[in-house]
Amino acid sequence: MELSDLTVYHNGKYARYEDSKVGLLSHGLNYGTGCFEGIRGYWNEPQQQLYLFRLRDHFDRLLRSARVLLISPTETAAELCAHAIELVRMNDLRQEIYIRPIVFKAAEEVGVRLHGVRHDLSIVALPHKSYFDSSRGLRATISSWRRIDDNSAPARAKLTGIYVSSALAKTDAVNNGFDEAILLTHEGHVAEGSAENIFIVRDGLVITPPVTDNILEGITRATILELCAAELGLSVHERSMDRSELYQADEVFFTGTAVGVSPVVEIDHRPIGDGKIGKVSSALVDLYRDITLGKLHQYHRWVTPCLPVSSATGLRDSTAAVN
Ligand code: PMP
Repeated sequence: MELSDLTVYHNGKYARYEDSKVGLLSHGLNYGTGCFEGIRGYWNEPQQQLYLFRLRDHFDRLLRSARVLLISPTETAAELCAHAIELVRMNDLRQEIYIRPIVFKAAEEVGVRLHGVRHDLSIVALPHKSYFDSSRGLRATISSWRRIDDNSAPARAKLTGIYVSSALAKTDAVNNGFDEAILLTHEGHVAEGSAENIFIVRDGLVITPPVTDNILEGITRATILELCAAELGLSVHERSMDRSELYQADEVFFTGTAVGVSPVVEIDHRPIGDGKIGKVSSALVDLYRDITLGKLHQYHRWVTPCLPVSSATGLRDSTAAVN
């Protein structure tokens, strides 16, 4: 499928991708004054159903990010969810997908500020290929780039301009032969990956950096914290983490919309645990896959079916309620 074939949502209307242009002087393009989301849709072949994962939570986060930029979209979170579902149907997407909503300062004018600049809002839904193959385990490195400090740019808002930091770290890591970068805070604590949150398992405890350590408050992170306690009976701790705790962990894994749960088997050339994917990580990979595919009834509250629902699945129609 070519991008030009897609129907997108742009400023209150459905339009062709190639007719939805932004100008060279757009404020968001020049100054990074935008915010966005990444939402995954999982295709369940036996059910012939596409499930969007934690749809409502993503749009709630988008609107919170927009607020930081002094943007108040006219659409409510519920309306944005409905547009995302409509795009899946209009584009007849029956495969794994990615949805990219973006709100950005769109005025074509020179001048750095937030106030009094009009915005655009668009949603693109497109076929998606997996970011990492989680079955093999990743090799990561601590980046020399630090995670942005909340007092420089709000780390918990998913702002477009902030991603230059992620891009610098990711490309350095890949150019140095690793799969992914881990960024520290300015104080030297572990923050997160370039586009993922990070967890360790040590002596049966699951530990992840707290939201006050400049992380993006990940929706997958929240999911995994809940699953560790509820499904695996593990004790979970949100606390600052030192770099050397990573090296000494029994298991390390990343979480994020794009990567799902991705085990890390080596950091800075040091094997994590025995250098193989650990038991907790692999249990979470399986659990997360089953939940996102809508297979676990007790977690249907996190998935939104997009296509007309057969009575066999027992799931409500997405037009009635959106997650
Ligand atoms: N941190 C950063 C910097 C990210 O870009 C992402 C991906 N959105 C995450 C963490 C993980 O967040 P989520 O689980 O909501 O995708």
